[in-house]
Amino acid sequence: MSLRVLVTGGAGFIGSHLCKRLVEDGCDVLCVDNYFTGAKQNVVFLQAYDNFELMRHDVTFPLYVEVDQIYNLACPASPLHYQFDPVQTTKTSVHGAINMLGLAKRTRAKILQASTSEVYGDPEEHPQTETYWGRVNPVGIRACYDEGKRCAETLFFDYQRQHGLAIKVARIFNTYGPNMHRDDGRVVSNFIVQALQGNPITIYGSGEQTRSFCYVSDLVEGLIRLMASPDALHGPINLGNPGEFQIIELAQKVLAMTGSHSELVYESLPEDDPVQRQPDITLARTNLDWSPAVDLDEGLGETIRYFERALSEA
Ligand code: NAD
Ligand code: UDP
Repeated sequence: MSLRVLVTGGAGFIGSHLCKRLVEDGCDVLCVDNYFTGAKQNVVFLQAYDNFELMRHDVTFPLYVEVDQIYNLACPASPLHYQFDPVQTTKTSVHGAINMLGLAKRTRAKILQASTSEVYGDPEEHPQTETYWGRVNPVGIRACYDEGKRCAETLFFDYQRQHGLAIKVARIFNTYGPNMHRDDGRVVSNFIVQALQGNPITIYGSGEQTRSFCYVSDLVEGLIRLMASPDALHGPINLGNPGEFQIIELAQKVLAMTGSHSELVYESLPEDDPVQRQPDITLARTNLDWSPAVDLDEGLGETIRYFERALSEA
C-alpha cells in the first residue's frame, strides 16, 4: 500500500509544490486547506491523479483521517495576511499544532512542522544557527506569527518527550517561486508584479535590511529529506539558501531581469522588521546531505516567467 500523506496548507504556495512532488513520488496525498491564502487553482490539476484528494478544512478544528505522515504547513506566511486576523493566526499555529499532533498520536504518524526563521526574531546572532534562542518581541505586530510558531515548536517537542511521537521541525527561511499569490504581499512577488506592471517598486525602510532567498524546489527537497531522515533526528533544522541580499539589491535584480523602468519608492519600515537574516545550514548539509541548488538569478527567472504568464491570463 502506498504511503498515506496529509499536507495541511497544501493549496498554498509551498504546499502545492509539496503535494505535486508527493503525488509524483506515488504517495496517496490528502491536501487539506481552508483557502485563506491558498487557492484551489494551485492544486486543481492534481485532481486528475487518483492518488490525490482535496479537502476543505480548518486545522483549528480536529480532523479524523487515517495517515502515515503529516506535513503541517497550514498558516498564512506573509506579514500582510498573518496580521489581517492576528488572533486567528495564533489559533492556526497553536490549535492547529495541537489538532495535528493529536492526529499523529492516534495514528502514530510521523509529523513535520513547517516552522520559520521568524522564531529567531530580529537576531543578534548572524548567521542564525539552530542553537540560537532568538529575539522576538512578544507583544508586537509580528508576534501572532512568531510566537505562534514558537509555541508550535514547544508543542512538537513536548509531544515527542511525553508521547514518543516521531517529530520533525524545519525552520524555513524566506522561500519564493511560482504559485505565490500576486497579492501575497511578500517581497519577491511584490517586486516582480510591480516591475511587470510598471508600478513603483515599494522599498520598506532604507532597503539595506537583508534576507536569504530559497527557491521552492530546493525547499521541497529539504522537507522530503527531513521527513525521510532517521527517527532520532527531530530538528529543529534550518532550511534556506545562505545567499544573503539587501532588499535594494533584490529590487535592482528584478528591474534588470524584467527590463522594467519602474521607479523605486521608499515607504516606512514595518514595526519589528528584522534587520538581517541568513541561515547557517551546516546541520542540514551534514544530516540530510542537503543544500540549495538554485541560485537567486535562476530562481527569479523562473518566478518572473510564472508571473508573466499569470498576469497575462488574469
Ligand atoms: P501560504 O500562505 O501560501 O500557504 C499557507 C496555506 O495554509 C494556505 O493555503 C492557507 O489557505 C492555509 N491555511 C491558513 N490557515 C489555515 C487553517 N486554519 N486551516 C487550514 N489551512 C490554512 O504560505 P507558504 O509560503 O506556502 O507557507 C507554508 C508554510 O511554510 C507556513 O506554515 C509558513 O509559516 C511556513 N513558512 C514559509 C516561509 C516562506 O518563505 N514561504 C518561510 C517560513 C515558514
Ligand atoms: N519588503 C519591501 N517591500 C515590499 C515587501 C517587503 O521592502 O513590498 C521588505 C520587508 O520590509 C522585509 C523584506 O522585504 O524587510 C522581506 O519581507 P517579506 O514580507 O517578504 O518577509 P519577512 O519580513 O517575513 O522576511
